[in-house]
Amino acid sequence: MTDFDKEYYWVVLCKNRLFHFRQNYRHKILLGVTDSFSPLPRLKVPFKVQCDVCGKEYTYHSDELLRFETESPPFFVAHSLFSD
Ligand SMILES: [Zn+2]
Repeated sequence: MTDFDKEYYWVVLCKNRLFHFRQNYRHKILLGVTDSFSPLPRLKVPFKVQCDVCGKEYTYHSDELLRFETESPPFFVAHSLFSD
């Protein structure tokens, strides 16, 4: 049985805590589609991610990547690192 409404994404947490503090959660920025079992991609170099909500850009390392299960967003553009 597969729940087609759920998908897995690689995400990072936006570091602009002040902005997202009002909403009382750590905003997850979706980077790329994955699945429930793929190993974390090994990215040797830091990469920059711009938040889709607050617009701030921060540098992230591969150990900050998280797997996140969520409903498919209505609009999603993969980060250039994950768009192949
Ligand atoms: Zn943000």
